[in-house]
Amino acid sequence: MKDDNFLRENNARHFWQPMAHPADSIAKPPVIVTGGNGVRIRDVDGHETVDAVGGLWNVNLGFSCQPVKDAIAEQLDRLPYYSTFRGTTNDVAVELSWMLREFFAPDGMARCFYTSGGSDSVEVALRLARQYHKIRGEAGRTKYLSLKKGYHGTHTLGASVNGNANFRTQYEPLMPGCFHIPAPYTYRNPFDETDPERLAQLCLAALEDEIKFQGADTIAAFIMEPILGAGGVIPPHKSFMPGVRAICDKYGILLIADEVITAFGRSGSWSGSRHWGVQPDMMCIAKAITNGYFPFGAVMIGDGVAGTFEGDTSGRGAIGSGYTYSGHPVGAAAAIACLKETERLQVKDNARDRGAQLFAGLLALQEKNAIIGDVRGGHGLMCAIELVSDRDTKAPIDKGTIGKVYQATYEAGVMVRVSGNNMILSPPLIIDAGEIDTVLWALSEGLAAVA
Ligand code: PLP
Repeated sequence: MKDDNFLRENNARHFWQPMAHPADSIAKPPVIVTGGNGVRIRDVDGHETVDAVGGLWNVNLGFSCQPVKDAIAEQLDRLPYYSTFRGTTNDVAVELSWMLREFFAPDGMARCFYTSGGSDSVEVALRLARQYHKIRGEAGRTKYLSLKKGYHGTHTLGASVNGNANFRTQYEPLMPGCFHIPAPYTYRNPFDETDPERLAQLCLAALEDEIKFQGADTIAAFIMEPILGAGGVIPPHKSFMPGVRAICDKYGILLIADEVITAFGRSGSWSGSRHWGVQPDMMCIAKAITNGYFPFGAVMIGDGVAGTFEGDTSGRGAIGSGYTYSGHPVGAAAAIACLKETERLQVKDNARDRGAQLFAGLLALQEKNAIIGDVRGGHGLMCAIELVSDRDTKAPIDKGTIGKVYQATYEAGVMVRVSGNNMILSPPLIIDAGEIDTVLWALSEGLAAVA
């Protein structure tokens, strides 16, 4: 490994990082991670921390999951690549398709289409939604609806349905025909509604209103995260997603669940939509499908959509989407090993229990720290604290203060993620009770640094 000076200098000189201002990366070099083991990572200075970020919501099984590493190494030896474009496929992609059905997908969702990651999965699902309506003779259904504060990756269609200006403004004009409705975000919403159930009803009414305004026969799909992740961990009231399903059914609109974060146990269930008892028409997955060890993703396709494509005799059902790495055998082998480990270790149950412990601990921290305006979680290992400079006005904390909390928490032994005025916690799902206590203790040290 190159020495720390070499790495810092060359990071600044040659490497533009995602979601970062190049000037910031030069002024304040990022943490350079050089090792990982279990739920811990080590930086270039040898400082070890519990990774309460879980890589990027994806390292569910930790940094040293041997069965996944072995599967990758064995597959590289046997068949390192073969295409799945029409005419060929590979044995591992076929086996994974069967396994996703056996272990993961709800009944009525037996098909999958492979991609290279979450943004690709979103792109494919949105494209397939338009194509579905075209096959059915409803070519006018081209628009998309989504939630403000939602995050759906950074391809142009995904950015167009994203509900956060940070990922949109500099790239506008984005795709026409994308419209957003308020998110069921109880802490801040345009209705000033603090009751989650009433807020869910107001957001559902806004959705129906927008559908009528646009014209139902112009809308292809509604896309949502079952629990909003990057937007600051926003779990809706349990009536929200079933309400969305009912409205989509009423108006012939497809429901796409973006489960890039929530799937594979993160939300305490195999998937977020299953958690809410909802069957989407398509489901976007990626991230933990390979535990973050290989770039890979998929779109799961419900029987209704599948039947339309498979029953098509006009030629309109031929799929014009695909990636060189769709169904990559090494990614597929990693995914098969991940599914087995996820099931064997029952990580969704651990996510549920440790998530409850983390959420309770964060609520206790809120009582002692006035800068914690809101605590969100309670559904698996997805939690956030929202920092404010004044609890009454809810004015967001400034960048410098949240930076100090982050730094002091890191020095106390825990890596967390800052997103706007939120601190997001999404540790590996194999984390134990003692490690959750470590996360809470380090965070209390971080908060104490600005008290
Ligand atoms: N959708 C959701 C809900 C996500 O959280 C993300 C990434 O965080 C994406 C899509 C994009 O995935 P990727 O970064 O793998 O392209």
